[in-house]
Amino acid sequence: MKTIGLIGGMSWESTSSYYQLINQEVKAALGGLHSAKIALVSLDFAEVEALQSSGNWNQAAEMMIEAALRLQAAGADAIMICTNTMHKVAEDLEAQIDLPLLHIADATAKVLVNDGVETVALLGTAFTMQEDFYIGRLARHGLKVITPIEAERQLVHQVIYQELCVGKIREESRQVYLSIINGLSEKGAQAVILGCTEIGLLVSQKHTGIELYDTTAIHAQAAVEFILN
Ligand code: GLU
Repeated sequence: MKTIGLIGGMSWESTSSYYQLINQEVKAALGGLHSAKIALVSLDFAEVEALQSSGNWNQAAEMMIEAALRLQAAGADAIMICTNTMHKVAEDLEAQIDLPLLHIADATAKVLVNDGVETVALLGTAFTMQEDFYIGRLARHGLKVITPIEAERQLVHQVIYQELCVGKIREESRQVYLSIINGLSEKGAQAVILGCTEIGLLVSQKHTGIELYDTTAIHAQAAVEFILN
């Protein structure tokens, strides 16, 4: 079995989902007392968020690289950044480490393309919904990506940082998200990417008939395939 290295804590609410999902799948595949070999560097999200909101992406990249090097020293065979947003610095990290990086947008795009989806909506932080590091990466796989209008993007972003990352799950916010998801479907999205690793804590497939692709579950599944291969 290979060891997966997780850069987590962004936020720990979703890292805890990763830990659970990866172990559940490895147990389901191997049975008995088996569990996943995981190395984890869990960061202080307050420090990460301060760098994001002040636009200090160079230091944020250094923080990711340092975490990856610690995972490499701990015996990890591949690295995962357990958040969509911090993939903004994924290419800086890839340039500095010898291990493969299992990129969350690549893993997600592969599943979508495999399912025949061509036009997909994206929900996530403002960074993820507005910048090329994520949408461009999806587009490389041939996907057409649509995002909510500015006012809705702000709402989605605020709920992530002010609620989901601090463990608050509010029914009002769920209804806001579902209404935005409906609007995106009416604009032609065949499916919606939950492109923030905490959104699955608020909205899941049981809440809507529109196809949802949860990046946390997809990324965790990519980890399991790597571990068992
Ligand atoms: N976990 C979230 C994401 O997937 C947001 C937290 C962060 O900014 O890293 O983008």
